[in-house]
Amino acid sequence: MKTIVVMNQKGGVAKTTTVINTAAIMTKLHGKKVLVIDADSQANTTQFFKRQTHKYTFSDILRHEPDGGASAVLSIEPSNWAGIDLLAADTSLMDLDLSAVQSGRVYTNCLRDMVELLEAEDGGYDYCIVDCPPAFNAASAAALLAGDSVIIPIRLDAFSLLGTANMTQQISNMAQLNPALKLAGCLVTMWAPRITSPETQQAVIKSGLPLFATRIRQTPKMEGMIEARVPLIDYSPTSSAARDYRDFVAELLSEVK
Ligand code: ADP
Ligand code: MG
Repeated sequence: MKTIVVMNQKGGVAKTTTVINTAAIMTKLHGKKVLVIDADSQANTTQFFKRQTHKYTFSDILRHEPDGGASAVLSIEPSNWAGIDLLAADTSLMDLDLSAVQSGRVYTNCLRDMVELLEAEDGGYDYCIVDCPPAFNAASAAALLAGDSVIIPIRLDAFSLLGTANMTQQISNMAQLNPALKLAGCLVTMWAPRITSPETQQAVIKSGLPLFATRIRQTPKMEGMIEARVPLIDYSPTSSAARDYRDFVAELLSEVK
């Protein structure tokens, strides 16, 4: 199992959209079994895939006494999409900022323990994908400690590069604790070539950040997809973004295996 962490400290850059559509394409078109972990207190991914009320959520796991990942594994539940299981989030994650790590109120190795346990037991998952909050907090730290690859979705605008240096630094810092961790790349989302200025496009290319070749185009279908709670490959399979996410997943699978 490979663990992919989707992070950016900015909100609204399509982290959740990328997690949902990547997981759906991996399962439906590539026959993979995927565990989705919602690490964001806004719990959008949980609401999207939710099938039942959740007994335990990611914040229970973070607060739990270390038990080798056993309670995390028990908290995994089926989602409403074949091939995807879910570890849900809820609003109580909001209280767990980095001060909770320093005061010992959270156990940031919980996901790493869970990943190790799933691998030892052959939990049957090919990929685990973590949807991070728009912040560096206890949940994102737990994700980076467990991850193999990081994807940073970015929106190309005048501010898109602000903060990316900070994020790549955090990934390097975390790699000292988790040597498996690598930046897989930045994924341009909500791409609108006629709107983005050539200067901004050039600045991103020149930044030296590793970019996925595929860019996800902006589509008016995305709002409807969220409302219907049906991933784009079923909701609007011929839309530009559905085709882009298919290409992106093919690129990702050839890189992270
Ligand atoms: P984040 O998780 O980074 O906060 P979201 O995935 O929730 O971001 O996306 C933010 C908003 O942008 C949502 O309303 C979503 O529907 C919209 N969005 C994401 N990707 C696209 C796209 N390719 N085209 C149009 N709208 C998009
Ligand atoms: Mg989100």
